[in-house]
Amino acid sequence: MRLVVDMTKCQSYAQCCFLAPESFTFQGQEALVYDPAPTDAHRGKILQAAAACPVQAILLDRSDDPTLARRELPAPPPGPTPLGPESRVVVVGASLAGLRGAEALRREGFRGELTIIGDEPEEPYDRPPLSKQVLSGRVAPESTTLPRLEDLDAGWRLGVAATGLDLDAKQVLLADGEHIAFDRLLIATGTRARPWVDPDGAGLDGVFTLRTVDDSRRLRAALEARPARVLVVGGGFTGSEVASVCRDLDLPVTVAVRGPAPLAGALGAVVGRIAGDVQRDHGVDLRCDVSVTTLEGQDGRVRGARLSDGTFVEADVVVVATGAVRNVEWLEGSGLSSGEWGVTCDAGCRVFDLNGVVTDDVFVAGDVARFPHPVFGAEFMAMEHWGNAVEQARVAAHNMVTGQVRRWAHLSVPVFWSIQFGHVIKSVGVPSVADEVMITQGSVEDRSFVAVYGRQGRTVAAVSFDQSKLLEHHRRAIAEGAAFPPDASTVNEAPDQDLEPAGLPSTRTPWAVAEETDLVVTGDEPSEWRTTWRPRRADDQQPQLARQE
Ligand SMILES: Cc1cc2nc3c(=O)[nH]c(=O)nc-3n(C[C@H](O)[C@H](O)[C@H](O)COP(=O)(O)OP(=O)(O)OC[C@H]3O[C@@H](n4cnc5c(N)ncnc54)[C@H](O)[C@@H]3O)c2cc1C
Ligand code: SF4
Repeated sequence: MRLVVDMTKCQSYAQCCFLAPESFTFQGQEALVYDPAPTDAHRGKILQAAAACPVQAILLDRSDDPTLARRELPAPPPGPTPLGPESRVVVVGASLAGLRGAEALRREGFRGELTIIGDEPEEPYDRPPLSKQVLSGRVAPESTTLPRLEDLDAGWRLGVAATGLDLDAKQVLLADGEHIAFDRLLIATGTRARPWVDPDGAGLDGVFTLRTVDDSRRLRAALEARPARVLVVGGGFTGSEVASVCRDLDLPVTVAVRGPAPLAGALGAVVGRIAGDVQRDHGVDLRCDVSVTTLEGQDGRVRGARLSDGTFVEADVVVVATGAVRNVEWLEGSGLSSGEWGVTCDAGCRVFDLNGVVTDDVFVAGDVARFPHPVFGAEFMAMEHWGNAVEQARVAAHNMVTGQVRRWAHLSVPVFWSIQFGHVIKSVGVPSVADEVMITQGSVEDRSFVAVYGRQGRTVAAVSFDQSKLLEHHRRAIAEGAAFPPDASTVNEAPDQDLEPAGLPSTRTPWAVAEETDLVVTGDEPSEWRTTWRPRRADDQQPQLARQE
C-alpha cells in the first residue's frame, strides 16, 4: 500500500492515530507522522482511518481507495473540448506537480497520448518526509513513492532530462537526442537545492544539500555515523527541520542564520524569535545575524566553517540549506518568459512568452511557476509549497483540456506546513508580504498559538504552532479580504494582543490597491473561484469564530 497525507488539510483530529496506530502517530501535541508504505497486514485499519478522517486528508492508491468518489472533481460541463483523443500532452518534470497534473488530465477526460519526462530515475516521490521521517530513520527512503490517484496510461521517460524546447515545431528535446512532439505541454520542473557558493567547499566530503531522495539517503547515513557536530547553514524550513532531526537523534547541532532568527525570512522576526526559542529549548546552538564565510576542510573532508563574526564552528557534517534554484535552464532560447525567477504565467497557468504575450499550448505548475495572485496585490509570486503544486497542477490540467470560456483561475490561498521540534507549524496566505502581526489565539509560552498578519489594513496571512484547526477560518478570512487587525475576541483568545511590526525584509513596494476597495476571492473550489472588487467597510471585521464558552 502507498499513502500520503495532505498535510495542508490535516487538522490533527487524531482519528487515524486511534484507528491505525501502527501507521499513524503524533509527535508532540499534534504533529502527525505516518508510514507512507504500510504493510498489507494493516490495510483494513488504514482504510477505516482514511474513511474516518474528517477532512479526507489521507490519499491512497486508486486501487485501494474506497473514498475516491467523494474526491471526484465536478464533471466538466458538456460540450466539445479542444483536446481530442488524437492529441498529445507532454509533461516535463516527474514529481508532485507533474504526477498530479497528469492524473487531473485523465480525470478531466483526456484520452490522448500522455508522456511524462523526468530526469530522476525514480517514480514520483514525496519530498516533505525527506527532511523529517526519512532523515530520522522512521521511514525508508524508497517508501516515499507517491500513491497513484488515477490510472495514468502514460509513456514514462524517467532518468532522461529535457534539454530544450522548440516552440515552432512543438517539440521537447531530450538529453538522449530524441524529440517528443506535443499539442499541449505542462512544465513542472520544480527547483533544486542551491549549492554552497564555493565549489571547493561544496565538494568536501561531509557537505550536503537536501532536495532528492538520494540526498536524504546519504545525509541519513552520515547522521547514523554519529558525527561530533552537525552545522546547518541557513535557518529556513529545511535547515530547521534538519536541526530538529539532529536533536531527536541526540546529535549536537549548530544552526547559522543570516537574519535575526530562524524562519524570519518567511514568517517575520516576531514569529521567527519564537521559533528560535523553541530551537534553543531543544539544545540547538543557534547563531543569528551571522553568515558562513568559508567551509574549511582537511584531506578532502570538511572540518568546520568560519562565520562572519570571526568564530570557527568545528563540524564533521555540514548541511547547506540556503534555498532553491529553479530548473529553467532547459528553456533557454525557447522564447518563453523564464529565468531565475521561474516560468511566468497567467492565473490560468498559461506561460507568457518573452514579450509578455500569453501562449495557448504551454502551461506551468508547481515550484517553478511564477504567477499573479489578486489577493496579494496582484504581485507575481512563486510558491515552493506542496499544496500549491497540487492545486496549480489541477488548474493547469483543467485549462489544458477545456476551451477559453470554461477556464479556471489558480486563486487558492497558499497553505504550507512544517514539522519541527515536535510542533506542527502551519501557514495560510503569504506572511512575507505583511507589515504587522498580532498573536490572536493561544499562548506563546505554551508554544500553541495563532499569529495573524496584516498589510495596509487587510489580513494577508496567519501562522499557527500546534493550532491547525483554527487556520481554515483564517484562510477564508484572507480570501474574503477581512480587515486587519482582526477581532480577536474569539476562541482561545491570546492574553496579550499587541500589534507589532512583522519584522520582514522591507524590500517591497506598496501595493497598488485602492484605499476604499479590496480585491477578494469567492468560492471554495477551482471551478467556483472568482475575483471581485468589494468596497471596504469601516466596520469590516473578520468573520466570527464561535465563541468558546
Ligand atoms: C526536503 C524537503 C522538504 C519539504 N517539506 C515541505 C513541507 O513540509 N511542506 C510543504 O508544503 N512543502 C515542503 N516541501 C516542498 C515540496 O516538496 C515542493 O513544493 C514540491 O515537491 C514541488 O513539486 P514540483 O513537482 O513543483 O517540483 P519538484 O518536486 O522539484 O519536481 C520537479 C521534478 O522535475 C525534474 N526536472 C527538473 N529539470 C528537469 C528537466 N530538464 N527534465 C526532466 N526533469 C526535470 C526534477 O528532477 C524533479 O524530479 C519540501 C521540499 C523538500 C525538498
Ligand atoms: S485530520 Fe485526518 S490525517 Fe489528520 S490527524 Fe486527523 S484523521 Fe489523521
